[in-house]
Amino acid sequence: MSIETSIGLETGQPYPYRRVELVEPDWRRLPGWSDVTEAEWRSAQWQRSHCVKNVAQLREVFGDLVEDRFYEDLTRDQAEQATMSMLVPPQMLNTMVPYAGLDGRALGPGSLTDALYADPVRHYMIPVASDRRTDWASHPHASRDSLHEHDMWVAEGLTHRYPTKVLAEMLPTCPQYCGHCTRMDLVGNSTPAVEKLKFFVKPVDRHAAMLDYLRRTPSVRDVVVSGGDVANMPWPRLEAFLTDLLAIENIRDIRLATKALIGLPQHWLQDDVRAGVERVGRLARDRGVSLAIHTHANHAHSVTPMVAEAAGAMLSAGVRDVRNQGVLLDGVNADPHALLDLCFRLLDGAQIMPYYFYLCDMIPSAEHWRISVRDAQRLQHHIMGYLPGFATPRIVCDVPFVGKRWVHQVAEYDHVRGISSWTKNYRTTIEADDAEALTRTYPYYDPIHTLPAEGQAWWAEQNLTARR
Ligand code: SF4
Repeated sequence: MSIETSIGLETGQPYPYRRVELVEPDWRRLPGWSDVTEAEWRSAQWQRSHCVKNVAQLREVFGDLVEDRFYEDLTRDQAEQATMSMLVPPQMLNTMVPYAGLDGRALGPGSLTDALYADPVRHYMIPVASDRRTDWASHPHASRDSLHEHDMWVAEGLTHRYPTKVLAEMLPTCPQYCGHCTRMDLVGNSTPAVEKLKFFVKPVDRHAAMLDYLRRTPSVRDVVVSGGDVANMPWPRLEAFLTDLLAIENIRDIRLATKALIGLPQHWLQDDVRAGVERVGRLARDRGVSLAIHTHANHAHSVTPMVAEAAGAMLSAGVRDVRNQGVLLDGVNADPHALLDLCFRLLDGAQIMPYYFYLCDMIPSAEHWRISVRDAQRLQHHIMGYLPGFATPRIVCDVPFVGKRWVHQVAEYDHVRGISSWTKNYRTTIEADDAEALTRTYPYYDPIHTLPAEGQAWWAEQNLTARR
């Protein structure tokens, strides 16, 4: 659906706001979980041990409600193009086809196939071969580690790109793997298409080296403690790292990155984790440091009462804010209504602050998800004015060698070839001696299939090898 056609005029406003109560879809509607109890569902351990990791396990959940053609399509994608292996917690899978069976129509063999194909959460968590483009599956300039985070490691896993903040990749795993993951180079298990990089240094030594760098670098005040997903770190180890971090005088902001708050909220509801967050929250408060959680929801269906409960638990435990950083994905949320629905559910229902939406990065096999900078600018325009200003997310392009730029900050833009140029006002750590770092422009590329015919023809003539 195009951005323009998706805007109805039902209430005289392009977007008709209505408060919506959050709903936890009944997992018992799906054959594989018909006798799963409430206690089991609320157990983080049960959720982790029942994650769907392969086609056979997905078939056990949906049974014959989904036709073989879907499973075959998925098998083909896993074998040929997937950059991430499959890992979907039940909580997350349950937000796919959430209304199945609730419309009075009986669920029968094959009845969920089309709905599952069309489902927005499925579209990015369980990509299938027929989702991908066959013309330009990858952009010619797509690359593993498209943001060059490894190039900017100052200790293994510690990316220092911006002047005052760093990203600490604590571990290379998550409780769920998103098909579009920008860290596909490192995160998750290898797939037939992508042999993953490995950390060489032992975790304890890696984390010590990160802390050592931060103690030696007083210009850094802000640490994103990420991964992967910190929910996969045993809590005592994470707490020890955070406690050491809080002892460093220059650190004033700490953000814990965890999509598990959306995909496996049960993790953050465990008593020991809540008690641990409370201890760290108290320490942060005593030291005047802001401790926040950054999570990652891409569609309104993912925001359920369980997610709201987990976000509320974190706020009660002393986390100052829970913020959402979503990714704009065609077929998932690249539509003003979908974005506003998601933002209002986060804000009204779950006390989660809409913060950023990123353009999907230029990784291999992602062209079917990516949208152009121009469409991102339109989306930003269409969502302005509905949410409070402090909760209106910024749509940003993470430009290689630059960092996040608001989509309207583009310096030059060739709409025909889909090449935008960006500038920056700081040096990354690999540009200390680069005299032109602040004056040159840095390119970003729109998906070729979104370009006018002239632009597509130009790219075809370039004879660049990444075309698939
Ligand atoms: S949770 Fe984040 S790091 Fe993990 S797979 Fe998804 S996008 Fe990648």
